[in-house]
Formats: sequence, structure tokens, C-alpha cells
Amino acid sequence: MQLLKDRIRKDGKVKEGNVLKVDSFLNHQMDVKLFREIGKEFQRRFAGEEITKILTIEASGIGIACIAAEVFDVPVVFAKKTQTKNIAGDVYTTKVESFTHGRIYDIIVAKEFLGKGDKVLLIDDFLANGKALEGLVQLVEDSGAELVGAGIVVEKGFQPGGDMLRKRTHLESLAIVESMNEKTGEIVFRGDE
Ligand code: 5GP
Repeated sequence: MQLLKDRIRKDGKVKEGNVLKVDSFLNHQMDVKLFREIGKEFQRRFAGEEITKILTIEASGIGIACIAAEVFDVPVVFAKKTQTKNIAGDVYTTKVESFTHGRIYDIIVAKEFLGKGDKVLLIDDFLANGKALEGLVQLVEDSGAELVGAGIVVEKGFQPGGDMLRKRTHLESLAIVESMNEKTGEIVFRGDE
């Protein structure tokens, strides 16, 4: 998606530890007009697929997933992160290792919001090692819902998440970063000459 790649080149900041900061339009301040274009692009890429629900993970996936849900005209659910030791009640839960914080946390979705009959599209802002998405896939499988695919805004192609997820479902990443240089700030996308 050229509009997105141009914006990342213009406003993205390459930080140490292979982190791409896009706080000025995606992760902190949010450019909702861009989100709408992202939502429409996901709709184009998943055209022909039946989708009845969008599932994301808090916190930074929520904004994009909400706008995408409006474009798809389906409900959106976000998996909650929790540190509660004893998760009781009617929830699906699994463990996820955080890329940005390096610790393990539980994610939960109430059973009443995900289950048999749902055809689910996963949406998230970043795909790095794929742990967050792997957790969401697990919740979908546990619930008996059908996984239709995953839509990602920025995939870091030099980390293993993309390859892992492509083996499991229909993955569409709108910008795939092949390499980035923290010293020069240069970002190379897949498909660039
Ligand atoms: P994964 O589980 O794929 O390793 O990491 C996914 C999560 O980590 C994303 O939901 C995102 O919040 C965060 N993340 C991973 N890499 C980056 C990055 O380079 N920049 C930002 N802003 N977030 C990232």
C-alpha cells in the first residue's frame, strides 16, 4: 500500500532493537483518515471472503480494528491483556510473550463474544515475532470459530512472524519492512527496487 509506505518513510522512526516507531500516526496519535484507507485496503484484499467478526488485541490494534470493522460492517472484539493469576469464568485464554516488553501475559476473550459460527478476521498494527497473532489464532481455534485470515498494517519481514502465520492462514500485510537502519533511518520495503 503505497500511501502507507510513503507515510512510514516520512514519519516513521527507526529505534534500537529493531523497533519502528510510528507514534505520530498509528500507535499514539492516530490518523483516522489513513485508518479509513487501511480499512478499505483490507476490504479489497479480503474481498470474496465471508467475514462476520474482527478480532484484535489491546491496545494498539484497537483503533485500526474499529475503523476496519466499520468498513466491513461487522462487530469488533479485542482480546484483553490481564495479569490476573486465576482467570475464572467464561473466557478463552492463552499466554502471549510480549515483543515490546519482553514478558509473558495472559490474553482473554469472553466466550459470549467468540464462538462457533463466527468467521474471524484478525487485525493488528504490527507483526514481528508473531506471538500476539499466534495467541489470537489460538483463541479462535479454542472457540470453534473459523479463522478467515489476518490483516496486518506493518510486517517486519526480517522477523519470523510472517512466515509462521502464512503457513496457518491467509495473511495480508500492507507494508512489509525488509530492513531498517537505525543509524541512517533508512527503511527498505519488500517490493522496492
Ligand atoms: P509480535 O508478537 O509479533 O512479536 O509483536 C506484535 C506486537 O508488538 C504488536 O502488536 C506491536 O504492538 C508490538 N510491536 C512489535 N514490533 C514493533 C515495532 O517495531 N514497532 C511498534 N511500534 N510496535 C511493535
